[in-house]
Amino acid sequence: MDIHEYQAKELLANFGVPVPRGGVAYTAEQAMFRAEEIGGSRWVVKAQIHSGARGKAGGVIVCASEHEVRVAAADLLGKCLVTHQTGPAGKVVHRLYIEEAVDIAREAYLGLVLDRREERVCVVAAPQGGMEIEEIAHDHPESILREVIEPAVGIQPFQAREIAFGLGFRPAEVNQAVKAIIGAYKAFRDLDSTMVEINPLAITSSGKVVALDAKMTFDDNALFRRPNVSELRDYAEEDPRDAEAAKYGLSYIALDGSIGCIVNGAGLAMATMDMIKHAGGEPANFLDIGGGASPERVAAAFRLVLSDPRVKVVLVNIFAGINRCDWVAQGIVQAANSVRVPVPVVARLAGTNVDEGRRILRESTLRITTANGLAEAAQKAVAALGLDGGGARSDVTRGAA
Ligand code: GDP
Ligand code: MN
Repeated sequence: MDIHEYQAKELLANFGVPVPRGGVAYTAEQAMFRAEEIGGSRWVVKAQIHSGARGKAGGVIVCASEHEVRVAAADLLGKCLVTHQTGPAGKVVHRLYIEEAVDIAREAYLGLVLDRREERVCVVAAPQGGMEIEEIAHDHPESILREVIEPAVGIQPFQAREIAFGLGFRPAEVNQAVKAIIGAYKAFRDLDSTMVEINPLAITSSGKVVALDAKMTFDDNALFRRPNVSELRDYAEEDPRDAEAAKYGLSYIALDGSIGCIVNGAGLAMATMDMIKHAGGEPANFLDIGGGASPERVAAAFRLVLSDPRVKVVLVNIFAGINRCDWVAQGIVQAANSVRVPVPVVARLAGTNVDEGRRILRESTLRITTANGLAEAAQKAVAALGLDGGGARSDVTRGAA
């Protein structure tokens, strides 16, 4: 899970990492209010989206008056920022962070990552900050410093000092940098983080070391024991389909074909995608609805798969071991009654109570093609694409509007 810059800064500050004064704002008025509250004469208005490289995309604006803060805030809110991390669709700005502007004398890079090969937390640092680590690795590979942390004892002051000196900090700055590095490490470890990035870690013209930007990622599997972290989740930043899938315990991955898949079991879902390809089609998604495919889950799966406008056929492939085919069939019927299913559906059921399951589908008023085997199901799904001319959606529910 990712969080916003302002949230990461608040967490890091609790561990002693120095950050500028700032406040979050959801409207231009609040932004102005924040500027007044912070005081001083220059502020930075920063778009809060889960992406780096906002500066280059116009998402970081330095302002010299409260009026400018208001104008910058009004400009950014609701705007879609396209950075090279967001993809071409970009991300809409809903929150802003207003900070006191600082005079930057120098920018350095500081990151903490989980090095899976070393099985250790690794501190990565470079004297050139403000640009991305990939760029630094490309342009100045020799300047990147690494320090592997021994988990039994944690980061040692000498390691933090080595990094600080390696970054070229002057004696007066080293102690501040050490505090920032140790603080970032403790936050990483104590909050079950998988990545902390402070870029830039800046030195101001008055010799203060301060984290001007902050990014944190957390281990999803540890969120249950970090309620203060998991409450920072911003659903607006996530693909709504991922969020919907997670709500129902479905594993969904969007692909770019036209045959929507609803399958139980990850292995069977993979095999189904292979068979679709083998039959000459392209899967629109990977979807594992899990073992207990309740009618609600099947309905949620249909909604999810059909939310992709490229889907022209839905292929349901259920092998009922723990589950029962009759329940799954009821789920499909219930789903088709609660969700508009505007495309042909091909269903292959196998396993427990399969005859009863097929009877339910047959006797329903739905236009569902049944198939006996996986290969047959894939062929029928591809054939259904052709029948449609691959284009128009027609309703599977007889008589439905
Ligand atoms: P990013 O582009 O998403 O990584 O956003 P950052 O928070 O790193 O900001 C991008 C750049 O804006 C920084 O590298 C700085 O050069 C500049 N910037 C950010 N905050 C300040 C500030 O307080 N004062 C000045 N002068 N520049 C800033
Ligand atoms: Mn940055």
